[in-house]
Amino acid sequence: MANNAAITPPAEITDEKQKEVWKAQQGFALIRELAGVLKAAVGASRAAVDAGYIPYANQVGQTGKVVSPDLYIACAISGAIQHQAGMRTSKNILAINKDPEAPIFGLARFGVVSDMHKFVPALTAELKKRLGR
Ligand SMILES: Cc1cc2nc3c(=O)[nH]c(=O)nc-3n(C[C@H](O)[C@H](O)[C@H](O)COP(=O)(O)OP(=O)(O)OC[C@H]3O[C@@H](n4cnc5c(N)ncnc54)[C@H](O)[C@@H]3O)c2cc1C
Repeated sequence: MANNAAITPPAEITDEKQKEVWKAQQGFALIRELAGVLKAAVGASRAAVDAGYIPYANQVGQTGKVVSPDLYIACAISGAIQHQAGMRTSKNILAINKDPEAPIFGLARFGVVSDMHKFVPALTAELKKRLGR
């Protein structure tokens, strides 16, 4: 399990909006590392694209790409109907969300209620061990 230092912005970042941006950037770094271990592609919601964290080419959903992988990991994705339109036919969906009421859990086969900044590094570390990567 990652320690809390990984989710605490550096002291010099005092502005709340900047803290949010920092956390989102850290989140994407964690997701990219997990994707690397799984040899998977990284998709995103329109909210993440609009915020500038990732290019539009990676957007999944009604106004983005439609994907249907063997495993779709919906990480900090609420599960808006427009997002579901792009991924609901995935063979298996794992949802990781800190809100147990998030709509994505209604669609997911597997669900983890957790802060992704804690769970994703732990998942990546375990997969690295098991897959020898
Ligand atoms: C015409 C139209 C077209 C659209 N097309 C698309 C589209 O193609 N694709 C698309 O995705 N959206 C689309 N949208 C937008 C869509 O309605 C949602 O606003 C968007 O999908 C929400 O993205 P999100 O889940 O990333 O963000 P939010 O709805 O803000 O949800 C963020 C989620 O992350 C969770 N969370 C936050 N921090 C953490 C953490 N540290 N650990 C774990 N969980 C956390 C929260 O609990 C929440 O559930 C469209 C909207 C319209 C009106």
